[in-house]
Amino acid sequence: MDAKTRIAELTSLLNKYSNAYYNENNPLISDVEYDALYKELESLEKQYPEYKLLESPTNKVGAKLESKITTITHEIPMYSLENSYSIEDIEEFYTRLYKLFGLNPEVTVEAKMDGAALSVTYDNGSLIQIVTRGDGKSGEDITNTAVINNLPKLIDYKGRLILRGEVIMPKEVFKNLNKLRGELGLPLFANPRNAASGSLKLLDIKEASSRGLEMFVYGVAYSDEEFATHKQSLDFCKSHNIPVSEFLYVCSNIFEVEQALNKIEDMRFSLPYDIDGAVIKVNNKDYQDEAGWTAKFPRWAIAYKYKAQQASTKLLDVIFQVGRTGAVTPVAVLEPVLISGSTVSRASLHNEDEVKRLNIMVGDTVFIEKGGEIIPKVVKVQEQLRPDDAKEIIFPENCPICNSKLEISDDDAKRRCKNPECPALIQGSIIHFASRDAMDIKGLGEKVVEELYNAHLINNYADIYELNADQLKMREGWGQVSADNLINAINDSKNVPFERVLFALGMRHVGAVAAKLIAEYFKSMDNLMDASFNDLEQVKGVGEETAKSILSSLNDKSMQEIISRLKSYGLQMEYISSVTGSSLQGSTFLITGTLDKPRKYYEDLIVQNGGTLLSGVSKNLNYLIAGEKAGSKLEKANRLGVKVISQNEFLDMIK
Ligand code: NAD
Repeated sequence: MDAKTRIAELTSLLNKYSNAYYNENNPLISDVEYDALYKELESLEKQYPEYKLLESPTNKVGAKLESKITTITHEIPMYSLENSYSIEDIEEFYTRLYKLFGLNPEVTVEAKMDGAALSVTYDNGSLIQIVTRGDGKSGEDITNTAVINNLPKLIDYKGRLILRGEVIMPKEVFKNLNKLRGELGLPLFANPRNAASGSLKLLDIKEASSRGLEMFVYGVAYSDEEFATHKQSLDFCKSHNIPVSEFLYVCSNIFEVEQALNKIEDMRFSLPYDIDGAVIKVNNKDYQDEAGWTAKFPRWAIAYKYKAQQASTKLLDVIFQVGRTGAVTPVAVLEPVLISGSTVSRASLHNEDEVKRLNIMVGDTVFIEKGGEIIPKVVKVQEQLRPDDAKEIIFPENCPICNSKLEISDDDAKRRCKNPECPALIQGSIIHFASRDAMDIKGLGEKVVEELYNAHLINNYADIYELNADQLKMREGWGQVSADNLINAINDSKNVPFERVLFALGMRHVGAVAAKLIAEYFKSMDNLMDASFNDLEQVKGVGEETAKSILSSLNDKSMQEIISRLKSYGLQMEYISSVTGSSLQGSTFLITGTLDKPRKYYEDLIVQNGGTLLSGVSKNLNYLIAGEKAGSKLEKANRLGVKVISQNEFLDMIK
């Protein structure tokens, strides 16, 4: 396709997407995909300026206003922000400022809240107008419909003030709102930002106030008062009880900017509302004027956006997986799509209720999201893009593995295979038993379990301890070395502490944390086998469901037999407290790079001496133990001012 046609195509596509996003609060594609198309258009327009169209999205803020309600021209235009996704872009921006002003300008770094931009006007002490950003030149008058809980109607300032800020919906409110909408069969919002935006024009005041909207002012566009800096203008708002963006760092060089960006990113997931990045702004107002504005954004500010974690793709099929507890889980088979740096082709659909709630069909275009969980989930279906040949998702009546009749359980809307002989249940329980957090038997993964099960060498996890190297080395694809390795790993697992043996048994509701609490409380398998329901309920963190499940598992004859066999093989059945010293009490540690001994050795020492292991570098980290070839973690620790120590310095701490 030639450049002219592609520019016209992209312009029309992006305008269509912007309209759905801004005017209908119903995005048709993910932000990542939108941004990629936008970048392509921007670069083509740079190469072929003669083909750039007047209606190009690169010329304007937001989308063309299509509103049924009164629109108001902004006294002062509302702008968007230049985007950047890397620290190099920020460094380039800062160099640009340096060249312009001939010095390192003071800048502020603040959180970029992920909501909708509003303009709010106070006059003579009263809130007189609230307007959406619209296309930046004019917006919708929502003064009478917007219910923003934290925005004061009256303030103690008699002059005129035009403020700019972001209205957000707290994550918790969003979750409950979508849950309720799901129950009522109403379409769900794709994210808190769309939900906030869609809640501004509700005519039902009661409904509007239940949406929990909050606003954070991030700029003063006009005031009768003069402010020398951006920070001063926000401090002024704050002193008049106007909520302002909560995290603002004043920085005088690029090093401090990077530190502030890290601090904000570290807070990202603990905040009650979504942020999608940080914003860097020149602090001095005169310098801001000097830098000026493009048609779309100020030249004195830039957004540092976090990598998005959503993408849209097609649902190709739904398969049903049988887990080790017999639960049948629908799994979405997706057209592979790149999200947060990895390709995703499967997503969990959880259970039947979730499939109903999403109203999802095979053939649909769906949004998937990668949250804290490893397995991505489907968050929304684009029903308007549904093809005519879309197929309903039919849940199986019988187990897809052993064909026995499935039972529907009340507690989690899952169909379950209750056949203890079902190969999926047996193999699943063996895989779990051997997994890293349980017995950690290296080399006994999914494939090997399947092979040994099909060869009738293991029928349950106790059989693992009957395996011998001679049996294994005869098998195709095995040799003496691999056979010995597996047998050694099996023997090593006999030293795994009791709490992990307990977790490995795979009793329903007994996760790694519960297993540890139970082991600590009962001290031995014998004590646990004698425990009553009431005894079990005494354990902190063990509720009724877990207690019931433990009792029913331990009363089961075949489970008792298996436990007695595990005992006879020499597995740990007594709890040994791992904390032997307290010299590291209250300190947090992380290890990076190559050390003299395996990482596990140092990690065990940390825990045994009362220290806590963290999973990443953050301001909460006290010590980074750095070995050879330490990379990004070391760099980040240095940036954040975290103390970096060698393995020897660490060993000195516990002497
Ligand atoms: P933006 O959201 O990238 O950044 C500008 C906005 O940030 C400002 O208008 C303001 O509302 C907000 N903001 C939050 N905190 C701020 C702070 N502390 N200081 C200053 N501003 C702050 O830009 P945009 O123009 O609102 O939206 C463009 C983006 O929207 C695109 O990059 C794209 O990701 C997304 N989009 C997606 C679709 C889609 O179909 N998925 C369509 C159109 C746009």
